[in-house]
Amino acid sequence: MISFDFEYHKPGTVSEAVALFQELENQGKQPRYYAGGTEILTLGRLGLFVTHAVIDIKNIPEFQQTEANEDWMIFGAGVTLTELEDKNLFPLLSKSASEAADHTARNKITLGGNICGHIFYREAVLPLLLTDSQLAVAGPAGTNIYSIHDLFNRRLQLENGELLVQVFVEKKYAALPYMSIKERQQWDTGYPLVTIAALKTEGTIRVAFSGVCSFPFRSAEIEEVLNHKETPLEARIQNALDYIPAPILNDGEGSNRYRKFVIKNLLFDIFTELGGT
Ligand SMILES: Cc1cc2nc3c(=O)[nH]c(=O)nc-3n(C[C@H](O)[C@H](O)[C@H](O)COP(=O)(O)OP(=O)(O)OC[C@H]3O[C@@H](n4cnc5c(N)ncnc54)[C@H](O)[C@@H]3O)c2cc1C
Repeated sequence: MISFDFEYHKPGTVSEAVALFQELENQGKQPRYYAGGTEILTLGRLGLFVTHAVIDIKNIPEFQQTEANEDWMIFGAGVTLTELEDKNLFPLLSKSASEAADHTARNKITLGGNICGHIFYREAVLPLLLTDSQLAVAGPAGTNIYSIHDLFNRRLQLENGELLVQVFVEKKYAALPYMSIKERQQWDTGYPLVTIAALKTEGTIRVAFSGVCSFPFRSAEIEEVLNHKETPLEARIQNALDYIPAPILNDGEGSNRYRKFVIKNLLFDIFTELGGT
């Protein structure tokens, strides 16, 4: 049960949603954008966060868009993970989406909610980091487009009241060789012990990680070391571990030593399979 009362608002446009957020904020209602609601309800039930007004954004038309034109794939932030899988415009994103949670939860969880949420795995962001995607973000001054690399640093760096509206991925990435492997401690669903997504472009393999540190990441240093083909693969992988950007997690999902072992094995499999040896 949720122990606090909250108003429910359902604006019809992006600008209404942003204006409503400011209004409710000024009234001291600690508003939250509400997409799939899975995290809001979970953390609310646990008493880990409070809001007195939610703004349901997922039916605003721009949030529901999933389409491709000649050059770009466009994903609305309100598209659910199962919709991403079903439409399958971008197979690597479909694969990452299909591994989060169980089917029932994925019917609710949205792309935007997964990327903007507080629970730190955010696995749907990995393909977006690998493809240098663009993000449309709305705020009081209008909508701006940013490179994901300018906005995503451990988490999406949004100002209070800003809203992720859409994600743009260049269409050329949809046809490239990829792999995404998720290792869990047990069972077929649940948060990752380690997830690595990889994409091969112009002879180079890009890699992004979730479950390794307390945030998802892609690292230029790691990719440089791993793609240095003059060095034997095992040595490259060992060297790459030095560039993991924060302490490796050591928690109920697995110890840091075990995670290191899994990372090495997954990187070996990925580089062997994608022809990066
Ligand atoms: C059983 C279960 C298992 C899960 N397993 C995994 C897993 O293995 N891997 C994984 O990565 N995730 C997993 N998740 C998903 C994750 O932990 C979050 O619950 C989920 O991603 C939140 O998405 P949502 O659409 O429900 O967001 P909501 O709960 O609606 O919102 C989450 C937060 O993001 C904000 N927000 C939402 N959309 C936007 C937007 N467009 N712009 C700005 N802010 C926004 C909200 O205000 C809120 O603060 C799991 C979830 C469940 C329920």
